[in-house]
Amino acid sequence: MKRSHRGLRAGIFSLAFAALTVPVRAGHSTPLPDAAASSRMRSIPTDSFAGKSGKLRARIVSSRRSAGIRILRDLFGDSAASRPGIYQAPDSATGRPFSLISVLPFDARERGRLGTYRVGFWPGERRASWLETKAPEGFIEVTTGNQDTPLSDHFRLRDFLTHDQQSVWPKYLVLRDALIDKLELVILDLEHRGHAVSHMQVMSGFRTPQYNSRGVGSKGGRATDSRHQYGDAADVFVDNDRDGRMDDLNRDGRVDTRDAMVVIQSVERVESMHPDLVGGAGLYRATTAHGPFVHVDVRGSRARWGLK
Ligand SMILES: [Zn+2]
Repeated sequence: MKRSHRGLRAGIFSLAFAALTVPVRAGHSTPLPDAAASSRMRSIPTDSFAGKSGKLRARIVSSRRSAGIRILRDLFGDSAASRPGIYQAPDSATGRPFSLISVLPFDARERGRLGTYRVGFWPGERRASWLETKAPEGFIEVTTGNQDTPLSDHFRLRDFLTHDQQSVWPKYLVLRDALIDKLELVILDLEHRGHAVSHMQVMSGFRTPQYNSRGVGSKGGRATDSRHQYGDAADVFVDNDRDGRMDDLNRDGRVDTRDAMVVIQSVERVESMHPDLVGGAGLYRATTAHGPFVHVDVRGSRARWGLK
C-alpha cells in the first residue's frame, strides 16, 4: 500500500473509496443486493450507460466516474461502492441484466501481486505524475463464477484476461469500457457495409506488465509501454466460423492482410464519427503462429502502423 499515492487522489470520492483499500481476499464472490437495496431497485438507464454503440451491457465504476458511482449507490446502497464486485440490475430498454463493475483501487497491489495473481509493475509508476494522469483506474476481480459476465453484445469479461497463470483465481483485469464501445462501433460499421459479425475474437486484450515485459524486443514485438497494459487495447479479428483465423471479409477467396484492412477502414470511419474514441490501429500480417489481425486502442491520439 502506497500512502503517498492515496494522498494524491484527494477528492470528494476519496472518503467513499477508503474502504476499498483492504487486503485482497481469495475467492471473493460477486456481491448480491441486500434486502434494503432490493427495495430501492430500479433499472439501469440504457440511454446514458449503453455507450455510443448502444451495445454495452456493463460499465466499469471507479472513483473517477461520478455517474457510475451515483447509480451504484442508488441501486445497491452506499456500501456497494466500497465493495469491489459485479452488481447487476435490469436495463431500462430490454430488461436484460446490466452490470456495474466496481473495481479494486490501483494501489491494492502488494509487491506486484493481488492475492496470488502476479501483475507486476507499470513502466513509470514510481513517478507521482504518472500516478496522477496515467495509472489505471483499478482492477476488476475475475472469478471462475463471473468470467462469463457480458460486457457488451459481443464481448465477455474473460475475453480480455491476460493469457497466463491459468490455474490462479481470482485473476485481475484492467479494462476501459471506451475500448468495448469502440469495438462494438467497428462491428456496427462492418455490418452496415454488409459484413455480418457474429463473433469478433480477442487474441490479446489486457496484458499485465509482468506478462507484457516477456515479449518486449525484436522477438516478441511488444512495446515496453504497450497500451495493452492500460486496458484500452485489443488485438482482434472477425471469426464468425470460429476456426481461429480471420474470415474472408472481402470475399476474394483468401484470408490475408486485405481482410484486416477491411477492419482498419471501419476503425477509420468510427474515429471520424467519434473523435473522442481516437487511438491506435495497427495491421499485422499472418505468420505460422496466427492469421492476420488488427490492433485497436483508445489511447486518445491517432497512431497507425503496419498499414498497406
Ligand atoms: Zn495490440
